[in-house]
Amino acid sequence: MQPAEFSQRVLDWFDIAGRKDLPWQKDISPYRVWISEIMLQQTQVATVIPYYLKFMSSFPTLESLAAASEDQVLHHWSGLGYYSRARNLHKTARMVVEDMGGMFPVDLDGMVSLPGIGRSTAGAILAIASGKQTAILDGNVKRVLARYHAVNGWPGKTPVLNELWGYAESYTPKARVADYTQAMMDLGATICTRSKPVCDQCPVQETCEGRASGTPTNYPGKKPKKVLPVRTTCMVVVQDGEALFLNKRPPTGIWPGLWSFPEIESLTDSETPNVTDVAEQWCAAKQLQVISAELLPGFRHTFSHYHLDIQILHVTTNDHSAAVMESERGLWYNVGAPETIGLAAPVSRIVKALLNAESTGGRNQRVLTFR
Ligand code: SF4
Repeated sequence: MQPAEFSQRVLDWFDIAGRKDLPWQKDISPYRVWISEIMLQQTQVATVIPYYLKFMSSFPTLESLAAASEDQVLHHWSGLGYYSRARNLHKTARMVVEDMGGMFPVDLDGMVSLPGIGRSTAGAILAIASGKQTAILDGNVKRVLARYHAVNGWPGKTPVLNELWGYAESYTPKARVADYTQAMMDLGATICTRSKPVCDQCPVQETCEGRASGTPTNYPGKKPKKVLPVRTTCMVVVQDGEALFLNKRPPTGIWPGLWSFPEIESLTDSETPNVTDVAEQWCAAKQLQVISAELLPGFRHTFSHYHLDIQILHVTTNDHSAAVMESERGLWYNVGAPETIGLAAPVSRIVKALLNAESTGGRNQRVLTFR
């Protein structure tokens, strides 16, 4: 199939079945498209929509985002993960406002020079917001093109990626490029899905090599498996009524700049009968009195390069007003009236589990579940 026919078929399909009422498809501007594209990286549309609406209501313009504090921006990102995206958004907003007169670059090179904007995101912003003939190659589009051309290799390998970029560029039309860009993302998200492609509804099914092979899900090739190492930690969750003690994490390392529970080395089997001693030792330095202490069932948090098995030492205390605080790196987080701060992902999980346990009849090991 010639490229022009491929793109026309995709556009015809979009006119009938594409998504046209997503929040970022209204009042289109580089700023609104940029925020949506960054949020949509690694995250599904249904998850992104409420975050996007809240973000836009708090930061309706590039200038308002640039004027916000990093903590405010991270707060709006809490739960979305991949927090470097939020930090880069903030940095980019400031750069565009302070160094570029509030105007985004109008070409690919200028766009990819901004923090957190790669070639595909730049292509999407230029195509959707400015109608430029620039290709995209996000995860959905990689899958469609790899199946259509039965590309065997893993797109993490440069030669495979280059081949896919070649296809992406050849099919991107000059006319209706914004619709085509949205159409390709929709096709991957709704028809050429990861595990169950609906080939008989696909506009390019007649000439798809992946479909002809009988096993389209074999494409693209999978990432070579590697066994991730396991690390362990123990989070100390000190609670006084609705207040939880949090520390701000350093600017480097995991969850940089986010708020998290203090950590100690995970407890061994021989130490676990003595959790009250461990808790009292930890609390003594802060002049906090331990009312009760127990080791709650933990969970595994997986990063790209290792698993982190998290134990939870839950300590209840009272009269935390007497606690010794270490300047601005510690705060009491009131779950009933939360501060606008960014929380590390496991902290959000633990807070939700504690709230859920309270609402289902009291926090104990049977009802504390992590989602
Ligand atoms: S025919 Fe099937 S495998 Fe090929 S692009 Fe369409 S949905 Fe994907």
